[in-house]
Amino acid sequence: MAGVLLELSQVSRRYIAGEQEIHALREIDLVIRAGEMVAVVGASGSGKSTLMNILGCLDQPSEGSYRIDGQETGALTSDELAGLRRDHFGFIFQRYHLMPHLNATRNAEIPAVYSGMDKASRRERARELLARLGLGDRCDHRPSQLSGGEQQRVSIARALMNGGDVILADEPTGALDSKNGREMMGILHELHGQGHTIILVTHDMQVARNAERIVELSDGRIAGDRTNPDRVVDAPGGPLKSFPSDKPTRRFRASWGRFAEAFKMAWITMASHRMRTLLTMLGIIIGITSVVSVVALGQGARQKVINDINAMGTNVIDIYPGKDWGDEDAGGIDTLVPSDLEALESQVYLDSVTPGASTNQLLRYGNKRASASIRGVGEQYFRVRGYEMARGGAFGRQDVLNQAQVVVIDQNTSKKFFAAHEDPIGKVLLLGALPCRVIGVTKEKEGPFGNNQNLEVWIPYTAAMSRLLGQHYFDSITVRVRDGVSNQIAEQSIVKLLRQRHGTKDFYTSSSDTILKTVKKTTATMSLMISAIAVISLVVGGIGVMNIMLVSVTERTHEIGIRMAVGARQNDIRQQFLIESSLVCLIGGLIGILLSYGVGLLFPLFVKTFTMKFSVLSIVAACVCSLSIGLLFGFLPARHAARLDPIEALARE
Ligand code: ADP
Ligand code: MG
Repeated sequence: MAGVLLELSQVSRRYIAGEQEIHALREIDLVIRAGEMVAVVGASGSGKSTLMNILGCLDQPSEGSYRIDGQETGALTSDELAGLRRDHFGFIFQRYHLMPHLNATRNAEIPAVYSGMDKASRRERARELLARLGLGDRCDHRPSQLSGGEQQRVSIARALMNGGDVILADEPTGALDSKNGREMMGILHELHGQGHTIILVTHDMQVARNAERIVELSDGRIAGDRTNPDRVVDAPGGPLKSFPSDKPTRRFRASWGRFAEAFKMAWITMASHRMRTLLTMLGIIIGITSVVSVVALGQGARQKVINDINAMGTNVIDIYPGKDWGDEDAGGIDTLVPSDLEALESQVYLDSVTPGASTNQLLRYGNKRASASIRGVGEQYFRVRGYEMARGGAFGRQDVLNQAQVVVIDQNTSKKFFAAHEDPIGKVLLLGALPCRVIGVTKEKEGPFGNNQNLEVWIPYTAAMSRLLGQHYFDSITVRVRDGVSNQIAEQSIVKLLRQRHGTKDFYTSSSDTILKTVKKTTATMSLMISAIAVISLVVGGIGVMNIMLVSVTERTHEIGIRMAVGARQNDIRQQFLIESSLVCLIGGLIGILLSYGVGLLFPLFVKTFTMKFSVLSIVAACVCSLSIGLLFGFLPARHAARLDPIEALARE
């Protein structure tokens, strides 16, 4: 006689239902040997299903011990129990418990996915099993496209997928008509003949007499346990011929296979709830779109400002009288004088130096008149400021020494006084009462804050000071630092030099370098604020994802139950939901990035002065961010799913 395979001793199972305690099983002693075919019979509510669930490691006894092949199950972890279910048991349920969105083949192969069989062999085996069960032409049908008998045969294929040493069939004929029921029993006989241990639960004595041993339950106790001398075989030799019972090969890439399966499942779920998936993504899409766009906008604006400042010349330092910007007494300070200019000109670290003495004058030419700002400057001014000439040229050293009455005008002034076809060069403008000849017109140059509408006229500072202003000091001196010399050091040296000359620091310096630093600091603060808003919007999106994932878990509790029954580990379930939430967020994030690129393309239609600037870093950050949101907010729902009780989950439909 074959050895003892399953052994229950003094097993009780109690349920707490509200105030009440229900004894579903009381002190059961039962021994089942390998290769037996046992029928468990009893009235409804006598505890048959409870017994079955304990035998199949889906449930555990409240008291007593259950040994499988001598191994005590009480101390096993849920994953070890899942392992036993996966490798040794095959369940057949009254209501088939197939997954509605998978076809017959994919339903049958699920246990092999969790045991790590590679894809090609598990598909082949599933098709072979289905073919032997007479479903060769139904492999690609979904459960809803199959009859009850066919669905039950798919569930048999699933039970046999990993070998199915012990077949646990809970009312397998309960939902079938008598013909299909007989066929079902025929299959079970075949399996028994091939050495499978069969445990069959039924309330129908007609079905039970197929078994060689009948165990009768009543009120949770064993009321009878007898061999069945007049065993009737309803349909000897069903459609089943022979099953290969070789163990599936375990592969190194098993966990990758499980991951791929979980990924595919997540994909199928998302695809079958397109609208809901999209709405779930919406929070993430909006969040990522706005963040990426705003960052790109900020980057673009910042780049624009930096470019403008660079155009002004980053190596330019202005020296003004007074203590600092807006010094009230600055007007009375007359210490920036031509000898300072000479001293600065002799400094090796300076490329060029120009003084400035400004005034506003009424300009006249013919009968046209306009107010313009007149700047008395040195011959190096245009080099210092980086002006280029559109026509003519700038005045030279000699013009400065001679106090020459020559001017360079800007585009605004040129347009104001001269028609497009008219050449301004050589024309004489009146600056107040001073006639001056135009010798040059500058090219348009954008300032940091767009083009200004001022009319600008430059005249040698000597002429401006003696003929227009009647002053002997400058309003400012501007220097250009030699390439390769640090602005900071140059600035320090200038301050030292002038302080020595003036005996006191009655001037201040301002360089575009400092402005640049301020701009960079300001934009950094802005970025920080934007990031804070981004985090908030993404958290809101993440909570939306979590919410839908919890709904999804609830909706798919039954599916989770099936997966657990055929041997999915907690980790497999957790993984599936984590992948789903990550996928939702990642796809949402990618859509968000694409949308913000779209915004970037449309942006120039509305704003001409600068463009949005997308950095690789912000794109990568957006992807990483959405993925982490998926993992973070998917964690709770996934854990919830993984911790479900398989029996309760299976009962939910
Ligand atoms: P059978 O399969 O023989 O009809 P069950 O094993 O399903 O019987 O149930 C045995 C008893 O345990 C019944 O009284 C049933 O109401 C109770 N029972 C089963 N499952 C639960 C549960 N999850 N919670 C509370 N009571 C339960
Ligand atoms: Mg039952």
